[in-house]
Amino acid sequence: MSRIAYVNGQYVPHKDAAVHIEDRGYQFADGVYEVCEVWDRKIVDMPRHMDRLGHSLSELKIAWPMARKAVEFVLLETIRRNKVTDGLVYIQVTRGVARRDHFFPSNDVMPSIVVTARNTSRSASDRQAETGISVVSYPENRWPRVDIKTVALLPNVLAKQNAKENGGKEAWYVDADGYVTEGGSTNAWIVTKDGVLVTRPAESGILRGITRAVVLDLVEREGLKFEERAFSLEEALVAREAFVTAASTLVMPVVKIDHAIIGNGHPGSIATALRDRFHTATDLQVV
Ligand code: PLP
Repeated sequence: MSRIAYVNGQYVPHKDAAVHIEDRGYQFADGVYEVCEVWDRKIVDMPRHMDRLGHSLSELKIAWPMARKAVEFVLLETIRRNKVTDGLVYIQVTRGVARRDHFFPSNDVMPSIVVTARNTSRSASDRQAETGISVVSYPENRWPRVDIKTVALLPNVLAKQNAKENGGKEAWYVDADGYVTEGGSTNAWIVTKDGVLVTRPAESGILRGITRAVVLDLVEREGLKFEERAFSLEEALVAREAFVTAASTLVMPVVKIDHAIIGNGHPGSIATALRDRFHTATDLQVV
């Protein structure tokens, strides 16, 4: 089946989908994005993703490319046209096309919007979760505004590539004080020896992950012991469990951090239970 992309008002074959070379996303990484999970023909947590898109846009003073309801319709329609049952839908909004100049263009330049959707293999992800992943630590080198989900992902690309070259699937950023901030494209969690779940507060140093928020709801509902605080790499290396969360991975157990085996080297019971129950705590909208 040929894929379809939405580009600035039109549904076009994916292979022909293009934006102008002077799009500010291309020239300056002057844009933001969201990735939502599609699960069993349902879009997961769209309201929360749209709220965060609104936050990213307003922090960068980029206007919505169209009304929020219309954006939501385009997401659903792109999923439908690509016959996505389990997968991801991606939306990118940039400040638009204008002659290359650092200053913002005039207000009559419309933001650009691109939406794509594709199936992913749920069974491959579940198989990965049965063995868990390795993460590789990396010095935090991003700007402080990581609360904005900007397309300026070069530090994340380099950190994740370094992880890959060292046998890992994900990078964990470690700040100058030795604290883990988050993953290259995930939020980071540990379970201490006493069975306490720990993740860093979203007020600084991390993207406020939607999957993280859902897991927090789940943790509360299940009455699990929980602390929202920074944890150091040193503490993580001796944790009972570790895992990462993101729309693309859901709850993914971590079994190795650098050279340290976490717990018994197998996915932990808390991470596995949270993964199993994840969709009981999400907002699901039928496509
Ligand atoms: N942190 C970073 C840097 C990310 O890029 C992502 C997702 O792309 C996340 C955390 C997880 O966010 P979410 O759960 O909303 O996918």
